[in-house]
Amino acid sequence: MATEVQQTLAKTAGFSGTSLHTGEKVSLKLQAAPVDHGIKFKRKDLADEPLIDAKIDNLKTVERATTIGEGPLRVHTVEHVLAALSGMGVDNAIIEMDANEPPIGDGSAQPYVDLVKKAGVAPQDAPRKFFEPREPVHIESKSGALLVLLPNDTFRVSCTQAGPNNRFTQFFSTEVTPSIFEREIAPARTFVYYEDVRGLMDKNLIKGGSLENAIVIRDDAVLSKEPLRFADEFVRHKILDIIGDLALIGRRIRGHLIAIKPGHAVNAELARTLAREQARRSEMEMPRKMPRGTDGGLGTDEVMQVLPHRYPFLFVDRVVEFAGDTKITAVKTVSINEPFFQGHFPGHPVMPGVLLVEAMAQVASILLFKLAQTSSRIGYFMSADGVKFRKPVFPGDTIFIHAELTKARGNRLAKAKCHCVVNDAVVSEGELMFTFLER
Ligand SMILES: [Zn+2]
Repeated sequence: MATEVQQTLAKTAGFSGTSLHTGEKVSLKLQAAPVDHGIKFKRKDLADEPLIDAKIDNLKTVERATTIGEGPLRVHTVEHVLAALSGMGVDNAIIEMDANEPPIGDGSAQPYVDLVKKAGVAPQDAPRKFFEPREPVHIESKSGALLVLLPNDTFRVSCTQAGPNNRFTQFFSTEVTPSIFEREIAPARTFVYYEDVRGLMDKNLIKGGSLENAIVIRDDAVLSKEPLRFADEFVRHKILDIIGDLALIGRRIRGHLIAIKPGHAVNAELARTLAREQARRSEMEMPRKMPRGTDGGLGTDEVMQVLPHRYPFLFVDRVVEFAGDTKITAVKTVSINEPFFQGHFPGHPVMPGVLLVEAMAQVASILLFKLAQTSSRIGYFMSADGVKFRKPVFPGDTIFIHAELTKARGNRLAKAKCHCVVNDAVVSEGELMFTFLER
């Protein structure tokens, strides 16, 4: 897979319209932003023109639309413009507005897609950041919404929408690329159920709302200014909202999202879960550097610059040598002071076999790190085959840990044959498999 780069807008483009909740006129401009900036809203109507980061941590409310804010500042109904930026492949941008809500347009993301195309999309000099689920993530709500994110090489959404009493049940499944987003998703308009908007109109909550910018469903009748753009326009708009809400995690998703009766609340909960998982990963994966000019080996300090492991879970004292990029020999001296000997076993200290596997995995990952030091990917231990423990390891033993990279399939998987030697005898061996994931 070629490394994808971040993108921003080639130039500034803007338009004006009416905001949904206040009914006021609003002008909006999309502007370029530097690498790693993400998407930020700029309130040009306020003193000092404050920025509000389009991040899930800034989520305020999810009633009907998604509202973000910082301190007393708010930006309402962010999802359609965010969907257009994300769907069209824009990672970094400033959305400048002179009101607290973007123009509602025709209730779809079409005006924003037109704006992105008017501005143009420009590549930037940094790799794109992804969130890749390692196992299924699922969110369920009391209202019966269910979101399941599965590992997948591309971003795909399979969505089932169902109205009250399962009226207007629709299903749509698609990979999300800029051309598919523009053609199949962006034109789908907001829809509302008459029984819901009647109350809101009474409360004066949707001043800008009309058949110009939403489809109204009353019983089995569909009321709209122009005919439906797709027979299944409602489920497509649900996917549009999902893309907009998930843009709040600030990374692209590589995964297949299965969404049943999604809504802003459950979308936001998934975004929060993914952002939390990403934060946990980033904490564990502080950037580490392979020391330079160390083909002859690594001292303890250098090993600790490469591996995040620490006492009592660091099982590599030093690297004796590298042979090219595919072979490594490291050393671990086992002392009676190792904490595991206290319980394994009292009066009969033996190093646990699983810790020998851990030691082999640590040594192999130094090799993988050396190989991939310029990449943004990191190797994870996935499986161990043919593991054998041939002789026990006792206090005082010096273990020579050998690892050899036998397979590096694409840039996703790698295999390493490893064995541990004490006093010239193999004490354990195994073939370990690693997968590469984005930091
Ligand atoms: Zn929407």
